[in-house]
Amino acid sequence: MDLDFDRQHLWHPYTQLSSPGKVYPVASASGVYLQLESGEQLIDAMSSWWCCVHGYNHPVLNQAISEQLKSMSHVMFGGLTHEPAINLGKQLMSLTANEFAGVFFADSGSVAVEVAMKMAAQWCFEQGLSDKQRFLTFAKGYHGDTFGAMSVCDPVTGMHHKFTRLLNEHMFIASPDCGFADEWHDSHVAEFEEALKAHHQDIIAVIFEPIVQGAGGMNFYSPEYLKAVRALCDEYQVLLIFDEIATGFGRTGQLFAYQHADVVPDIMCLGKSLTGGYMTLSAVMCRQHVVDGISSAFMHGPTFMANPLACQVANASIELLLSSGWQDNVKRIESQLNRELLPLARHPAVQEVRVLGAIGVLEMVKPVDIEWFQAQMVLAGVWIRPFMNLIYLMPPFIIEASELSHITNSIESTLDQIK
Ligand SMILES: *Cc1c(COP(=O)(O)O)cnc(C)c1O
Repeated sequence: MDLDFDRQHLWHPYTQLSSPGKVYPVASASGVYLQLESGEQLIDAMSSWWCCVHGYNHPVLNQAISEQLKSMSHVMFGGLTHEPAINLGKQLMSLTANEFAGVFFADSGSVAVEVAMKMAAQWCFEQGLSDKQRFLTFAKGYHGDTFGAMSVCDPVTGMHHKFTRLLNEHMFIASPDCGFADEWHDSHVAEFEEALKAHHQDIIAVIFEPIVQGAGGMNFYSPEYLKAVRALCDEYQVLLIFDEIATGFGRTGQLFAYQHADVVPDIMCLGKSLTGGYMTLSAVMCRQHVVDGISSAFMHGPTFMANPLACQVANASIELLLSSGWQDNVKRIESQLNRELLPLARHPAVQEVRVLGAIGVLEMVKPVDIEWFQAQMVLAGVWIRPFMNLIYLMPPFIIEASELSHITNSIESTLDQIK
């Protein structure tokens, strides 16, 4: 592989092209393994950023995509439609107990967030609520890297100061501080309630990630927040958007994170593992009153909207998920992470360990030297990419107990060297 070309010309996520970090060339991937060009096999603990829940190179998903290829790989969605999109729409509506009435297919998570924000804004505009100009969200959130999405990401980690003049200013309140299983007090939602009470006439929608704040800090929080926020949004008639792009399709132990709380948002964004990690696709789902309230054309329409290959592999991925006993797999991973990861909290380099569903997080006392840590893991045959002071795992659901133990043991054996 021409790594010099890569280093000189190809931007990688969150890197400086003039001073790029190390990248490892991958030749192929199968099951939970990444096969490096240099010969090493790495157990992937990241599912390629939440996506690859069934593992790589899955025969069922391969088959779905190659079958679809024979009839059509893409047609425009303007004025045309096709079976893969219709089936996926039906599938998503039935997975969410027919709570949602409209489905918008977009091409990435960030775009889904843009679409959700625009949907809420257009809904308000058409209700004659055009004074509403801001979104309300929690600090430490992450919603993607496009301008609209970025404007509701955490102002510090989202580097708002670099784009101040270009970003709309939205309202942020402190991130949830009641842990997933902690005892709930209404005081946890007091700041949110005050913000909504004082500013609801100004607020288009509330947007946040339910239960797990992902790339903004890997925090897990109580389902009681979702109940309280839902009730307050109803009281003040403000739309509620859940960004389930990372949490959707089983990762937290429920098919969708909102199901931990038994409340339903008005608009929901899905992405990441929607296609089992095969293709980029996202979906925005909205409820009947949102559909009814948008009484003119909704102004969005990506070129690759509802791409048939992506929709078809998403259909296959969802069927596979449902027939694979995902819930048992996630539970099995969760209890193994509880057994093997939680004890590491005693190590002086570790601040806290958290586990929820098929997610394990080591919050370290200090920021982790990513390149050093990655190199140690690669030597051990494991792929983990930490950020800030967080070493986190979200393996494919098909990972075997011995493979997961290998990951947790490999982490443990580096801890003494992390000062
Ligand atoms: C990854 C992510 C996004 C952005 O998705 P992309 O496909 O990277 O644009 C948005 N919201 C959440 C919660 C995410 O985890």
